This record gives sequence, structure tokens and C-alpha cells, in this order.
Amino acid sequence: MAEPDRNYDALVVGAGAGGLFAAARLSHLGYRVLVVERLDRVGGRASTEIIDGFAVNNGAIVIEFGGITEETFAEVGARFDVRRPKTSLLYRIGGKDVDVTGGGWGFLLGKLTRQGAKVLEGLGAARTDDGLPDAQLSTAEWLRRYTSNESVHGIFRNMCASIFAVSSEELPATVFLTYFTRRSAFKKFGFCPEGTIGVWRALADVVEGNGGEVWLDSEVRRVTLAEDGSVSGAVVARDGEQVEVSCRFAVSDVGPAATADLVGRDRLPSDYVSTVDTTPCSMIVLNFASQEDLVEAPGMLSFAKTRRMAYVANFTATCPEMAPEGWNLYNGTSVPQPATGDFDEEQEIELLRQDLRDHIPGFERARVLSTTVWRDDWPPQRAVAGHDIGHGTPIANLWNVGDAVKQYANGGTTACAETAKLVVDEATARFPVGARV
Ligand SMILES: Cc1cc2nc3c(=O)[nH]c(=O)nc-3n(C[C@H](O)[C@H](O)[C@H](O)COP(=O)(O)OP(=O)(O)OC[C@H]3O[C@@H](n4cnc5c(N)ncnc54)[C@H](O)[C@@H]3O)c2cc1C
Repeated sequence: MAEPDRNYDALVVGAGAGGLFAAARLSHLGYRVLVVERLDRVGGRASTEIIDGFAVNNGAIVIEFGGITEETFAEVGARFDVRRPKTSLLYRIGGKDVDVTGGGWGFLLGKLTRQGAKVLEGLGAARTDDGLPDAQLSTAEWLRRYTSNESVHGIFRNMCASIFAVSSEELPATVFLTYFTRRSAFKKFGFCPEGTIGVWRALADVVEGNGGEVWLDSEVRRVTLAEDGSVSGAVVARDGEQVEVSCRFAVSDVGPAATADLVGRDRLPSDYVSTVDTTPCSMIVLNFASQEDLVEAPGMLSFAKTRRMAYVANFTATCPEMAPEGWNLYNGTSVPQPATGDFDEEQEIELLRQDLRDHIPGFERARVLSTTVWRDDWPPQRAVAGHDIGHGTPIANLWNVGDAVKQYANGGTTACAETAKLVVDEATARFPVGARV
């Protein structure tokens, strides 16, 4: 039997969102791509596992419509199986679930306080670069300039938690304001009926459909360098063997710190190495199921007044496939305090449970499927927004993608789609398709 051809144009380390967005783009453009993933499934921190027949996500739950994510799917010809809830987001304010769709900030703030106009003015000023506050100011500090209203602060805190996985005290105001005045701001989103893994399976299918390979249960142990210091390939542990692969260039989705380890930190300039250990944040997620309808909101429900809980997601109102027949699937999510340092896990889980008991009548009778603290090596964001590093590396044919190398004021899988596009644009300009040696 002929030896398999282990020479690829592009090696992609990791089949998370960033890796698969990049791999799908590259294979669509005609590059021979190998994706290597150490787990037995695709999706990384936006994947799904089946627990007793329920599709339980192990990270991202909503995917943004429009913008760079949907654009990438359309460009590479991948199916985009994301379903929008009847109403995406409701806010519980004064005991009522309020739909602010269409009304914007003015409507939302008007529901919370009579002083909404002052906050609106601040938001308006931030639309120009000169109106952005000092980079050191936190979102909560910025907001205190305009109001001390607890509900307004609660809503802002939960917005920061939902999108950036930190509190408003930890998020730079410039990030919050840039995101909401200049970016897509996750206004339209939906759930994947298979669980979020379905979104990444579609991109992996594109890679394979274009002649690329996706190796699961395979781990890159070392990125190998040529004599000139460029990446020549990698050593991969697969089926109990060490396999050597070669590539023209490599894209890493494992985060800059782990990428530096795979290359060897001593092979990289020390001023670059000193930047790679980005600060991750944390989230706590409790998945629960019930045969009773416990949540009326058909998508996400956020809150003006909670101890910690940022939102409750109702999956099955839109995607009944995610649960066995007759069951509803929900999750409650919080961001601990602090999100970026050490915290008491048990106490923080208890605060989330107390919020669920207070805000979701019947929660006590629900079946808890999982309670997970996401932190350290499996964080909601590998770098707190505003503290990312660049996607390039000192090695000319090696790039990072993913949520530690986000563009300023972006987050989650949308940011991964964006970094993948930028990296693919740079890599394809430097290494034109078909020019293999
Ligand atoms: C609880 C939670 C809720 C979230 N909610 C949302 C949301 O609703 N919407 C949203 O857009 N975002 C959300 N996010 C953020 C989103 O999940 C992440 O930003 C995104 O999935 C990060 O993808 P990535 O490509 O950067 O990295 P990862 O997903 O970490 O992918 C890296 C992959 O590389 C693999 N790997 C690591 N080392 C190796 C190696 N040596 N060899 C081979 N493979 C390797 C890993 O197994 C992994 O699969 C959430 C995250 C969490 C944790």
C-alpha cells in the first residue's frame, strides 16, 4: 500500500471555532488542509455532549446571525443551521419580561430609570472617537458618571457578563462602548438544533468535501521548525503512533501560550513570549430540564436584578430536538466575582442557584443535568476583551486564531470568525494557492 501523502499546504492545530473557520476558508480556496484535534469531536469550547438524550453545550450556546459568521458560511458553502427564537432577548425588569427589540437603548433605559437620557447622552458621545473615555476606566465607573440606578447597573453588569464573561467593573468602558456603538453587538442570534457542535460539523464537512482532512483524537505534540526558523510541520500523536506531517504554513487555534509551548518558548524572542500568557475569564453554567414549562421567554432572558445570574437560555422553545420528547431544556449562566482571579467555586455556584430559585419558579423541581465552572484551560474567553494580543507571530508562516487574538472589542465565536478571515487573508497573500514546492 502506498504511503499516505503527509505534505499539506496548511496545518490547522485545533478544531475549535477559530480553527474550523480558517480551515474551511483555506480548503474552499483550494489549499490542501489538515486539521488536527485532540478531542474526539469538533467545536472546542463551542461543542456539545449528549447527557441522557439532552444536547448539552459545553461552551457557546448562541451563534450570531449576519456579519462575519454567516458571511463565512455563505462564502465557503456550508449549511448554516441556526434557528432564531421568536424573540431573541427579553429583560426582566420590575417583575415583567420586556422585549426591547426595535426600541433600542432609549426604550430599554426608559424602562429602568427616569434619568435614562443622561446615559443616552454618554452613549451618543461615544459614537465618535473623541467621545470615548479614558482607556483605564471600567464600564461600571463610566456608567456611574451618569446614574447610580441599581437596575441600570444590573443590566449593564449582565450585558458585560453575557457577552464578555466579566463584570462591568472588570471590562474597560472603551470595549463596551466600541462594541455597542460600532460592532454587530450580537443583536440577532439563534441556537443550532443539534447543539452548537452542529455549526462546526458543517465547517468540518466543507474541509473534507474539498479534499482536506480532519483528524480527531489526535494531538499535536510539537510544531517543527526548519533551519531558517520557519514552521516545517508537526509531530502528531495519532492511533498510538507519532506521525510527522509537513506544511507550507500553520494556523494555531490553541491560544498563543500553548502555541508557544508547541514551538518551544526558547525558539521565540523573549519580548514576544512575555505577551502570550493572556488572562482568561470564568463562567458558571447550570443546565437543567423539566417536563413543566418553566420559562416563558423563547430565547434568552436577562435580568436587571440578580446576585450573579446573567441570563437563562430556553433552548427547546426553538429547538425541541435538543431534548427527549416532552422535556424542556434550559441553562442558567453567571459570571463569578472576580471573573479573572481566584474565587470560591462553591459559594459562586450557590449564588447562581439562589438566583435560579428566585427568578425561575419551579426550578427546585427541575432535573439538574450539569453544573460546570468554566475557567483556566477552558475559559469563556482566553483573553479578556481589550487585552488580546495580535494574531501574527515572530515566525512568518505561523499565525494564531481564536479568542485570545480577537480584534478590539469583539467576543466569542464572532471574534473567532473575524480572526480566521484576517489570518487567511494574510496567509494566502504570502503563500499563493498552487505554489507548493
Ligand atoms: C460557558 C461558555 C459560554 C459561551 N457562550 C458563548 C455564546 O453563547 N456565543 C459565542 O459566540 N461564544 C460563547 N462563548 C465563547 C466561545 O465558546 C469561544 O470564544 C470560542 O469557542 C473559542 O474558540 P477558539 O477557536 O478560540 O478555541 P477553542 O474552542 O478552545 O479550540 C481549540 C481547540 O484546540 C484543541 N487543542 C488544544 N491543544 C491541542 C493540540 N496540542 N493538538 C490538537 N488539538 C488541540 C482543543 O481541544 C480545542 O478543540 C462561550 C464560552 C463558554 C466557555
